Amino acid sequence: MTGVSIADCLARGAELKGVSDTWRLDTELLLAEALGAGRALLIAHPQRELSSPQLQKFDDYLARRRRGEPIAYILGRREFWSLELSVNEAVLVPRPETELLVEAALAALAGFSDQSVRIADMGTGSGAIALAIASERPDASVVAVDSSAAALAVARHNAVQLGIGNVSFVLSHWFDALGDTNFDMVVSNPPYVANDDPHLARGDLRFEPRQALVSGEDGLSDIRLLADQGRQFLRPGGKLLLEHGWQQGEAVRRILEERGYQAVRTLPDLAGLDRVTMACNGERSAGHS
Ligand code: GLN
Repeated sequence: MTGVSIADCLARGAELKGVSDTWRLDTELLLAEALGAGRALLIAHPQRELSSPQLQKFDDYLARRRRGEPIAYILGRREFWSLELSVNEAVLVPRPETELLVEAALAALAGFSDQSVRIADMGTGSGAIALAIASERPDASVVAVDSSAAALAVARHNAVQLGIGNVSFVLSHWFDALGDTNFDMVVSNPPYVANDDPHLARGDLRFEPRQALVSGEDGLSDIRLLADQGRQFLRPGGKLLLEHGWQQGEAVRRILEERGYQAVRTLPDLAGLDRVTMACNGERSAGHS
């Protein structure tokens, strides 16, 4: 034994004060992980001593967190829409805001009552959105697309772990490899941060894949591209749902309206900020490509 107790380790969490606003919770999660136990054990047995491998693990986790590494990467998992997803540095850490996109997609799908709805999740990353929708709509067939093979491997692994069978995976830069497929719905949490956004140098974002975060000078390059390609890959009447930054609502609505989408509207997240914009693919007419 090491002579170091659970209470001693919890006290060391103060080392994270400069790094994390949630340093207490972070410490508990890391310690529970090192012990291979639930957080309840920490409260029930504060005097219990750590074994030397447990202490080594805790030291390692704490050091990584002190350097700023996101908790989700250290633990290798993050909860999203009641699904436990494996994550690593190849994928963006799923965010609670993105659950709004899932909610809006499911509500819009309620209008498509026929079986075999086809949905594409563009830039699926860990598979969070695709798997959440697929788990709620086992009748739907979901195509999860990513341009990163390493990200797709994570998404595929998650589908297997969760036993979700109605998602297929395609390595593709946006729609490039999708042939002439037609979708009833396209959803995406694309990169939408501007190249020079100072947030990229702070907090969790430093550790996340840049290609999942950054999209040109105004952060809107990929949204423009998805809006262009969506016109072609959505059936008439199909729905496009895009997550974006809280200051991008107006710009995204304009991008969609300029390209002939109809019923364009933005939904606020739980903090009341513009977060998801949805639109309906109108009939193709002369003048719009
Ligand atoms: N919501 C993320 C952030 O700014 C960005 C995610 C993204 O670009 N899709 O923290």
